[in-house]
Amino acid sequence: MRARRALEIVRRLRARYPDTQLPLRHRNPLQLLIATILSAQSTDAQVNRVTPTLFKRYRTAADFADARTSELETYVHSTGFFHAKTRAIQRATRVLVDRYGGRVPRTLEELVELPGVGRKTANVVLSGFGVPGIVVDTHVRRLSRRLALTAHHDPDKIEQDLMPLIPREEWSAFSLRLIFLGREICFARRPRCPTCPLRDLCPSSRYGGMPPWMTPAGIGASRAAGRTRPRPTRRAGTGARS
Ligand code: SF4
Repeated sequence: MRARRALEIVRRLRARYPDTQLPLRHRNPLQLLIATILSAQSTDAQVNRVTPTLFKRYRTAADFADARTSELETYVHSTGFFHAKTRAIQRATRVLVDRYGGRVPRTLEELVELPGVGRKTANVVLSGFGVPGIVVDTHVRRLSRRLALTAHHDPDKIEQDLMPLIPREEWSAFSLRLIFLGREICFARRPRCPTCPLRDLCPSSRYGGMPPWMTPAGIGASRAAGRTRPRPTRRAGTGARS
């Protein structure tokens, strides 16, 4: 059964990755929001390289909102897409100043109202407040599908599928641990199934991590049939739906 399998996945991941400190270095919610915006299409290590200087230069939401754009861009340049990221930071911090007195709001509803902030960024920021949230990034999306915890592609729908399966207090840590596994073992191209701590729980392991429901043909067939759950082939047995 899928719910029971999900709980065992939670347990194994907790044992494998006991430390769930957020990789993006920050000292307050504002810094976490900025770092998360910068992390799009970049690496945590790269973001962590630029933020110490950045956060020394700009300390408050007003500092970011009122900064000279060209100067702010020089600080974040190496994270890539620096024009768009600078614009996103300044638009979001402007709203923080105008609507929230420079503070970062503490609810998902308010956070996703900020310009350029989607559910993924909002959930990362909430986790910094200690509020549980499932962050669906590229790793969580891929692993949830390989583990057959969802059949969806859309991150918001994946989040909805995972929420009832994972205990609420584990939401933030679970997504972080899936990210760790995605970086260490369950790679996009060549997942190392034989060394994976989840291999006996993972319907994709018998396909070397490339199950039919994730191949272009499988996805097309699944969509054409209007299915919302991965349907195993005869080889897949019942595990893919559990
Ligand atoms: S068994 Fe393979 S596909 Fe499944 S989670 Fe582990 S590495 Fe990924």
